[in-house]
Amino acid sequence: MELKTTKTPHSCSIDKVVEHLSANKNTGLSSEEAARRLRSFGPNLLEKKKKKSVLIVFIEQFLDPIIYILSIAMLLAFAFGDWLEGFAVLFVIVMTTLIGFFMELQAIRSVEALQKLAPTMSRVVRDSKVKNIESSLLVPGDVIVLGMGDVVPADARLIETNALALKEASLTGESHQVEKLTGSLDKNTPISDQKNMVFSSTIVSRGNARAVVTSTGNHTKIGEISSLTRKAEKLRTPLEKKLSRLSRKLIWLTLILAAFTTLSGYLQGKDLMLMIKTGIALAVAAIPEGLPIVATISLARGMLRLSRENVIIKKLESVETLGEIGIICTDKTGTLTENKMVVRSIIVQNEKLEEIKLNKHGFSVSNELQRRIFEVSTLCNNAGIGEKNSEDPLETGLLDFVKEFDGDPQSIRKALPRTKEFPFDTDKKRMLTINEEEDHFLVCVKGAMETVLEDCSYLQNGEVISPMDTKPDWLEKGENMASNGLRVLALAYKHINDSSTEPMKDLILLGLVGFEDPPRKDVQQAIETYRSAGVKVVMVTGDHPQTALKIGEEISLTTKGRDSEPVIYGPDIGDLKNISGVEKKKVLDASIFARMVPEQKLDLVSFYQNNNLVVGMLGDGVNDTPALKKADIGIAMGIRGTEAAKEVADVILMDDKFTSTELAIRQGRNIFGNIRHFVVFLLSCNLAEIIAVAIASMSNLPLPLMPLQILFLNLVTDVFPALALGMGRGNKSVMDQPPRPSDEPIITKKIWYAMIAYSLCITLAVIGITWYGYSFNGYSPVIVNNMAFYTLILGQLLNVFNLTSRKSSFIFNEVTSNKWVWGAIIISLLIVVLAYWIPFLNTILSLVPLKLEQLIMVIFFGVISVGLTQFLKRNGLIV
Ligand code: ATP
Repeated sequence: MELKTTKTPHSCSIDKVVEHLSANKNTGLSSEEAARRLRSFGPNLLEKKKKKSVLIVFIEQFLDPIIYILSIAMLLAFAFGDWLEGFAVLFVIVMTTLIGFFMELQAIRSVEALQKLAPTMSRVVRDSKVKNIESSLLVPGDVIVLGMGDVVPADARLIETNALALKEASLTGESHQVEKLTGSLDKNTPISDQKNMVFSSTIVSRGNARAVVTSTGNHTKIGEISSLTRKAEKLRTPLEKKLSRLSRKLIWLTLILAAFTTLSGYLQGKDLMLMIKTGIALAVAAIPEGLPIVATISLARGMLRLSRENVIIKKLESVETLGEIGIICTDKTGTLTENKMVVRSIIVQNEKLEEIKLNKHGFSVSNELQRRIFEVSTLCNNAGIGEKNSEDPLETGLLDFVKEFDGDPQSIRKALPRTKEFPFDTDKKRMLTINEEEDHFLVCVKGAMETVLEDCSYLQNGEVISPMDTKPDWLEKGENMASNGLRVLALAYKHINDSSTEPMKDLILLGLVGFEDPPRKDVQQAIETYRSAGVKVVMVTGDHPQTALKIGEEISLTTKGRDSEPVIYGPDIGDLKNISGVEKKKVLDASIFARMVPEQKLDLVSFYQNNNLVVGMLGDGVNDTPALKKADIGIAMGIRGTEAAKEVADVILMDDKFTSTELAIRQGRNIFGNIRHFVVFLLSCNLAEIIAVAIASMSNLPLPLMPLQILFLNLVTDVFPALALGMGRGNKSVMDQPPRPSDEPIITKKIWYAMIAYSLCITLAVIGITWYGYSFNGYSPVIVNNMAFYTLILGQLLNVFNLTSRKSSFIFNEVTSNKWVWGAIIISLLIVVLAYWIPFLNTILSLVPLKLEQLIMVIFFGVISVGLTQFLKRNGLIV
């Protein structure tokens, strides 16, 4: 069947659009029909980027300055007629590009696999039922159900709306919210004014709706726009860029050193051809070709490892930033607390103003008061209402409270049908409904106590209504309730005759309800860990300061008497951009921000960032999205989070556990540490080769390394241990150190010193054995060269053990516990033994049989190199 889709659904009546789409407003499509349409229309996905073809990935490996230099070296070797060396360099080029190619392919695959782990979900009516399905399975004609916080999954014509408003910035660039309706519009209405349509990628900021999907995937408006800008992007993280820059610098250094070595060897009377070849080989070997891609691999592996722990990282670079987080802003309800709200007590004027603790035996208040409390609790509440069903635990808790004390929500809702709803608004912190009651209307209000009390002029005093003249007493009682850690909600009502009357004025206060929401058990431990890791945790909540403080104390976020002013009251914060010194310190010191509105969350994130902190922000609501976007790492909850929050976040915690952020930060720190180890190892080994050859060429000693030996080292002993270091599980004590400053280079000054020291120790051993063999024992140059070659190999392999912190034990540390390192050492040694035994190879590498005592000397000098470094390290001379 060919569907007659219309290009201008906004100009047609709802019935016409539904008819065109062969849809059904009430029952939705059948599963069979939806499957059929999915086959003909394809999945509802934006083809964001053209996939890079395997061939392109391969070709890109050759577009690298390192490969250019290697190619020049190869051509030079061939030009000098040195076929063996020419082919050896060609082999290096092939190996380098192949390793790069396979690694990049693996990185691309890992990232793609991870993107599939957190699909966006939509609610759709199929076979007369509301179902939750992956948004990619939507087809034209589907009836979708939208609620606050949803990202609209496809372009759709609205059928029913209830106080619906959307943020359409992703499409139109306009940041204000747009109210929506259902009536038909003129054919020429521009997109920004098509109020009866919702468009893919926009966000429901208020209310709810039903709509029929008119177009999906690339046929949506956003699909049309993004297809214009679609292009293939190279996978490059900031870390990779930093490493590229570093390796570029090193290329120059290497070239200069190689040229210097060649020249000084020649001036010392060594064979010119040999020195040129040595120079080329040194340049080839010392260029750190694998640096950038190993970073990508380490990051991608980190992402995969975290996904197994229910932490989904959406962008590769986030792994790196995770390790730099210095402050975490988190909401309270559901993140730090269980999000299971149970009404524990109420405050009412029942003859006297009193707090009644609830227990199984019920609560005795006057009939009228109880009836009104039940009515407001049930009517101003979306829990258990069909498809609008609110999953807000506060509303569910309130409804449970009514049921527990023999109220009957169903008959209340039947008797007093709702005519209008002003949904909960995080700025105003209240919700309001208007319901029909006989010949007038009943206004029901629930919300934060300060807001609701402000609008109350009367009070339900038992059976009667009296003027409200005890506000300060109410506030005091309410604060008291909050200071026991209860979330406080005020209930109020009034009657109006026509719906044009201002519903928020002159309300009648019914009472305050206190909800218990206990802290999550594991949070306190996580906060302690953060404290020792130098990561500050701050609670940013819309809740009452006293409730926030009590919970904060229970999870050790703040301790009684420790912080001079632990809680900052949102309405007291002025403009964070122009804040005085004293105020600034106060804000920086505080660990709890209460009664904050969403806009302030955004300002707070900017404030911290301006004070040089890398900010991680946890959030779940649609109003959190600007702050989540602004934070260096936005973290959304997988279960509780809205689709909007998940869409903009960099990290999704699939199990909603605050403690998972700790795993992520730990992993981020470890990965950076691994990459640093990898770089330091590779560079110190390369440097040792260059310096050893340079010293020998300037003196009368024979060369410790022949050109082909250098190339061999480059492919074997350098690469495997370096890769293994990049795979490490990391140091247990990473969370006992402060976060790494984001502007810290990969190799800091101290690390440069240490790296040079490592290489000098290896050099010393190599030159030492060369001198010992040549000048002291008078061995032939080839024997001396072989001894030096093996010493260098041993020194380099043992160099992996230098890469631990000087505080950790030499025997038990992150390197010795890394099984990849042991594997790499064994493989490297096996390859060396094979090279020694295999006739063709040993000829190329100029290897000759050595005597036992000569081998013992090799071991002795090899061990000396690591012993020397450890001596410097353990005595605090290097890091
Ligand atoms: P948290 O950080 O604890 O998650 P929040 O920032 O999400 O809190 P809000 O949900 O905005 O805070 O709640 C702020 C206040 O608004 C609450 O203290 C409560 O009094 C009131 N409130 C919360 N939910 C509702 C609701 N569904 N209807 C009416 N009022 C509500």
